[in-house]
Amino acid sequence: MTHIMIVGGGVAGLTAALALHAAGFARITVVEAAREIRPVGAGLNLMPNAVRELDALGVLGAVERGAVRTRELRYYHRSGSLISRDPRGLRAGYLWPQLSVHRGELQRVLAEAVRARLGPSALLTGVRVTGVEPLPDGMPEGRPRVTLEYRDGARRGSASLEPDLLIGADGIRSAVRAALNPGEGAPPWNGAVIWRGVSRMPAERAGTFMFIAGDDTHKAVVYPLTEPGTEGTVQVNWALLGPGSAAHDAEDGAYRGDWNRAVDVGDFAHRFAGWEFGGVRVAEVLAAAEAAYEYPMVDREPLASWTCGRTTLIGDAAHAMYPVGSNGATQSVVDGRALAHALATHRDPVAALAAYEADRRPVTTALQRANRRQGPEVVINLAHERAPGGFRDVDTVIPPSERAAIAARYASQGAFDRETVNAGSPYGVPARGRAR
Ligand SMILES: Cc1cc2nc3c(=O)[nH]c(=O)nc-3n(C[C@H](O)[C@H](O)[C@H](O)COP(=O)(O)OP(=O)(O)OC[C@H]3O[C@@H](n4cnc5c(N)ncnc54)[C@H](O)[C@@H]3O)c2cc1C
Repeated sequence: MTHIMIVGGGVAGLTAALALHAAGFARITVVEAAREIRPVGAGLNLMPNAVRELDALGVLGAVERGAVRTRELRYYHRSGSLISRDPRGLRAGYLWPQLSVHRGELQRVLAEAVRARLGPSALLTGVRVTGVEPLPDGMPEGRPRVTLEYRDGARRGSASLEPDLLIGADGIRSAVRAALNPGEGAPPWNGAVIWRGVSRMPAERAGTFMFIAGDDTHKAVVYPLTEPGTEGTVQVNWALLGPGSAAHDAEDGAYRGDWNRAVDVGDFAHRFAGWEFGGVRVAEVLAAAEAAYEYPMVDREPLASWTCGRTTLIGDAAHAMYPVGSNGATQSVVDGRALAHALATHRDPVAALAAYEADRRPVTTALQRANRRQGPEVVINLAHERAPGGFRDVDTVIPPSERAAIAARYASQGAFDRETVNAGSPYGVPARGRAR
């Protein structure tokens, strides 16, 4: 039976485990460096193409219970002038919703499904991959060698294993990627910083839409993450962008790609004083913050190849991109399904990994590049450039045809335009009688 080792129990690794299991693979191990799966991070959005794949995996109901259907996306000029407001998900005619969800909630649902379906020992926490030799014997068909360090209570140890297939799902600072690309170094930083967090506040103060607002240096993204509870409050996700300082650059390696760096709201709240869009006040959202985290605007350079023999990459390990356009988690979910489909439809696993990469790398490379140019959020920069003081009529600043073309180009680059999504998943897998 094929032994598939997945390094990393984030959104990409857990989705891949569920998809591979659904495709008939029975020997799957996910190794996760964190000692337990905890609800860390803040909110993210899943576009309808990813939601469609979660539906196919039978976890959509559980994900939706802790999420909000994103109904509307608004772009605002820094002055408060509205650039555009567009329906999203079901309201835009998709057969699947767009979802706003806490990263930790999504990860919890996926991890529970992995443990329930694959068995508790399929997800091993407290296990860190420290070394990978993709081709230890120099043969493309040979099995990769993996070194692990683990903690079991007070006990620490290490082990070396040779799985049949190795999937690097270990995020932006991936050890598997580093083994395939020695010398790549820390993720490049563009000089901006994102302050992120979640606030609990009265539903009527939070808006029912997602907004992205700002100018050429500062931006705010705010949206509700939960439906109102019995006490009438909702969780609100916020991510604020502004210039970083030389101190950030000096910290280099450790700072870049660390999602858990806590900061005080007071360090940056003054930059967004007076910001209010559609009745939602940024200062009020920040005053209700449970915690705040700082993350540098980093991504990865697109790679010329993800695969070496029986080892490949998925999710951020393969294509970390700026958090623009809701594609980080979205594309990672799609990767998992695409990988399982390729492995289920090819006899030779080396050919399957090559087919997976040929399908996914062009799409995600285009998105990495598009996100460096601000993706669909470029409308905010254009509005600021053309009308720095604001405007009365947006159509004189960015004509409707130009706005529509920007949105349509990005959706088709990411394969989440309505026609493509509604045509159904290309990653269905024929049922198999026995375990692969
Ligand atoms: C703590 C955290 C918080 C985040 N918060 C947000 C957020 O608020 N908003 C947002 O849009 N995106 C956030 N992200 C990123 C987002 O989850 C990803 O962009 C997207 O979901 C793709 O996920 P991934 O599974 O490829 O990578 P990740 O989510 O980064 O998951 C990678 C996993 O691999 C594990 N890992 C890393 N190295 C090793 C190793 N050597 N051995 C074993 N396991 C390893 C990590 O612990 C992690 O669980 C966060 C990521 C993390 C890790």
